[in-house]
Amino acid sequence: MTEARVGLPSSWAEVCVLKPRLRQQAKEAGYLSEWRTLAAAAESGADTLEAWRELCARIAEHGSWYGTYAIRDDAEDEDPVYRCPSARRCERRTVPDRPGEVPVCHLSGAPMTGSAHGG
Ligand SMILES: [Zn+2]
Repeated sequence: MTEARVGLPSSWAEVCVLKPRLRQQAKEAGYLSEWRTLAAAAESGADTLEAWRELCARIAEHGSWYGTYAIRDDAEDEDPVYRCPSARRCERRTVPDRPGEVPVCHLSGAPMTGSAHGG
Protein backbone atom coordinates (compact mmCIF):
# COMPACT_ATOMS: atom_id res chain seq x y z
CA MET A 1 0.00 0.00 0.00
CA THR A 2 2.24 2.77 -1.24
CA GLU A 3 1.04 6.28 -1.63
CA ALA A 4 3.78 7.18 -4.05
CA ARG A 5 2.33 10.24 -5.67
CA VAL A 6 4.89 12.91 -5.09
CA GLY A 7 4.17 16.45 -6.03
CA LEU A 8 7.45 17.76 -7.32
CA PRO A 9 7.44 21.48 -7.89
CA SER A 10 6.77 22.32 -11.52
CA SER A 11 7.18 26.07 -11.30
CA TRP A 12 9.17 28.69 -9.50
CA ALA A 13 6.03 29.66 -7.64
CA GLU A 14 5.94 26.25 -6.01
CA VAL A 15 9.63 26.37 -5.15
CA CYS A 16 9.01 29.81 -3.68
CA VAL A 17 6.23 28.51 -1.45
CA LEU A 18 8.03 25.32 -0.49
CA LYS A 19 11.51 26.69 0.04
CA PRO A 20 11.44 27.13 3.85
CA ARG A 21 9.90 23.69 4.26
CA LEU A 22 12.34 22.21 1.80
CA ARG A 23 15.19 23.47 3.90
CA GLN A 24 13.98 21.48 6.87
CA GLN A 25 13.37 18.41 4.73
CA ALA A 26 16.73 18.72 3.02
CA LYS A 27 18.36 18.96 6.41
CA GLU A 28 16.64 15.83 7.63
CA ALA A 29 17.54 13.98 4.44
CA GLY A 30 21.17 15.10 4.49
CA TYR A 31 20.97 17.44 1.50
CA LEU A 32 21.33 20.74 3.31
CA SER A 33 24.45 21.76 1.41
CA GLU A 34 22.63 21.13 -1.89
CA TRP A 35 19.73 23.22 -0.62
CA ARG A 36 22.08 26.04 0.31
CA THR A 37 23.69 25.98 -3.12
CA LEU A 38 20.33 26.13 -4.84
CA ALA A 39 19.02 28.81 -2.51
CA ALA A 40 22.01 31.02 -3.25
CA ALA A 41 21.63 30.37 -6.97
CA ALA A 42 17.95 31.24 -6.84
CA GLU A 43 18.66 34.52 -5.07
CA SER A 44 21.16 35.44 -7.74
CA GLY A 45 18.60 34.74 -10.43
CA ALA A 46 19.98 31.49 -11.82
CA ASP A 47 17.62 29.19 -13.65
CA THR A 48 17.84 26.14 -11.45
CA LEU A 49 14.27 24.89 -11.47
CA GLU A 50 15.35 21.51 -12.79
CA ALA A 51 17.92 21.22 -10.02
CA TRP A 52 15.25 22.00 -7.45
CA ARG A 53 13.12 19.22 -8.88
CA GLU A 54 16.01 16.81 -8.61
CA LEU A 55 16.62 17.81 -5.02
CA CYS A 56 12.93 17.34 -4.23
CA ALA A 57 12.98 13.93 -5.90
CA ARG A 58 15.94 12.88 -3.79
CA ILE A 59 14.28 14.13 -0.63
CA ALA A 60 11.15 12.24 -1.62
CA GLU A 61 13.17 9.04 -2.00
CA HIS A 62 14.30 9.59 1.53
CA GLY A 63 10.69 9.37 2.60
CA SER A 64 10.42 12.73 4.31
CA TRP A 65 8.39 14.49 1.66
CA TYR A 66 5.33 16.12 3.12
CA GLY A 67 3.31 15.67 -0.02
CA THR A 68 1.80 18.02 -2.47
CA TYR A 69 1.19 21.62 -1.78
CA ALA A 70 -1.55 23.51 -3.49
CA ILE A 71 -0.68 27.07 -4.34
CA ARG A 72 -3.38 29.32 -3.09
CA ASP A 73 -4.80 31.19 -6.02
CA ASP A 74 -8.39 31.52 -4.94
CA ALA A 75 -8.07 35.05 -3.69
CA GLU A 76 -11.24 37.00 -3.40
CA ASP A 77 -11.46 40.04 -5.58
CA GLU A 78 -11.40 42.42 -2.67
CA ASP A 79 -8.30 40.89 -1.13
CA PRO A 80 -5.06 42.63 -1.91
CA VAL A 81 -3.03 40.25 -4.01
CA TYR A 82 0.71 40.17 -3.69
CA ARG A 83 3.11 39.06 -6.36
CA CYS A 84 6.72 38.06 -6.09
CA PRO A 85 9.16 40.85 -6.89
CA SER A 86 10.90 38.56 -9.36
CA ALA A 87 7.65 38.08 -11.25
CA ARG A 88 9.39 37.29 -14.52
CA ARG A 89 10.49 34.04 -12.99
CA CYS A 90 8.32 33.41 -9.96
CA GLU A 91 4.64 33.67 -10.73
CA ARG A 92 3.50 33.06 -7.18
CA ARG A 93 0.57 35.10 -5.97
CA THR A 94 -0.81 35.16 -2.52
CA VAL A 95 -2.95 37.07 -0.12
CA PRO A 96 -1.67 38.07 3.32
CA ASP A 97 -2.75 35.96 6.26
CA ARG A 98 -3.70 39.11 8.06
CA PRO A 99 -4.49 42.56 6.68
CA GLY A 100 -1.41 44.71 6.55
CA GLU A 101 0.98 41.78 6.54
CA VAL A 102 3.31 41.73 3.58
CA PRO A 103 4.25 38.24 2.45
CA VAL A 104 7.85 37.53 1.50
CA CYS A 105 9.14 35.87 -1.64
CA HIS A 106 11.23 32.99 -0.37
CA LEU A 107 13.22 32.84 -3.58
CA SER A 108 14.61 36.34 -3.38
CA GLY A 109 13.95 37.05 0.27
CA ALA A 110 12.31 40.31 -0.75
CA PRO A 111 8.86 41.49 0.30
CA MET A 112 6.19 40.74 -2.22
CA THR A 113 4.62 43.64 -4.07
CA GLY A 114 0.98 44.45 -3.75
CA SER A 115 -1.22 44.92 -6.77
CA ALA A 116 -4.10 46.40 -4.83
CA HIS A 117 -3.59 49.73 -6.55
CA GLY A 118 -4.14 48.28 -9.96
CA GLY A 119 -0.51 47.68 -10.81
ZN1 LIG B 1 8.60 34.10 -5.17
